[in-house]
Amino acid sequence: MTAQRLDGKAISKQIQAETKTKVAEFVSQSGRAPVLAAVLVGDDPASQVYVRNKERACKRVGIESRLIRMSGESSTEDLLAKVNELNNAPEVSGILVQLPLPDQCDSRTILDAINPNKDVDAFHPHNVGLISQGRPRFLPCTPHGIVQMLRRYDIETTGKHVCVIGRSDIVGKPMAMMLGQRDSGLGPEMANATVTLCHSRTANLAEITKQADILIAAIGRPNFVTPDMIKPGATVVDVGINRTDDGLVGDVDFDAAMEVASYVTPVPGGVGPLTVAMLLENTLMAALQGQ
Ligand code: NDP
Repeated sequence: MTAQRLDGKAISKQIQAETKTKVAEFVSQSGRAPVLAAVLVGDDPASQVYVRNKERACKRVGIESRLIRMSGESSTEDLLAKVNELNNAPEVSGILVQLPLPDQCDSRTILDAINPNKDVDAFHPHNVGLISQGRPRFLPCTPHGIVQMLRRYDIETTGKHVCVIGRSDIVGKPMAMMLGQRDSGLGPEMANATVTLCHSRTANLAEITKQADILIAAIGRPNFVTPDMIKPGATVVDVGINRTDDGLVGDVDFDAAMEVASYVTPVPGGVGPLTVAMLLENTLMAALQGQ
């Protein structure tokens, strides 16, 4: 059996085209463009690439991006002052602080200081709380992108067993939360799953993952998911981005997974482009809500 490759790049383009139309409507009604302010601290090469990609994507859809570069020596107080300034800038629709921050910065304190109405990454406890109650203000970008991709390939989650490996606040936990609800924000057919959330202390991991109709790997370990962990015919979503000597690889052994599963997302070109697309969508929503 050879699975179908889920083309995140193509879906991302489709979503960005839709966002571009909605941004143009916003501009013609309000006379201004939505503004995304990105705070980049230090010179971590991966973060520079991520921020550059987000800037380019903003430009493509008509969102104004503002890059605020801060020294790698910045303190928590320096960042709090910057976040406060952006919170109070009426023209700024959305704020993102690119992670990871240098060790001397208290990430939690800084993210908590972002005005929840401008929190386009949906990391603020207010926004996480709203998601957990099934009434999101913003959906977190990576999980939202995954649900959008599944929906656009007609892969419904209702009644399915979804196994998420990884319980980070950014990917695994919100993913599990969204899919286990009555409505993820994208309709009941894209929620109502029976979700198992696995992590590094999970016993008999392969036995659990093998039962999943949809397996989502967000671990950060190259080629961790091997064919013996996949139920034949399952959908496999690979969130991992791992830099190795062979280039970027995911958390799933892609070639081997293609022989067992029905659908597999590649790395690169799978979940990554969708994360950026959903960030643009959230920025537009923030601008609309701020009117
Ligand atoms: P974290 O490091 O925050 O979390 C990793 C999770 O994987 C933890 O919950 C950890 O368990 C679990 N884990 C680690 N080892 C094992 C193991 N042997 N068995 C089972 N579970 C394990 O990572 P993130 O969620 O931030 O990111 C995960 C991956 O996704 C990374 O490669 C990252 O680069 C990528 N990523 C990609 C994005 C995209 O847009 N495509 C966006 C965000 C992240 P425990 O909690 O017990 O430690």
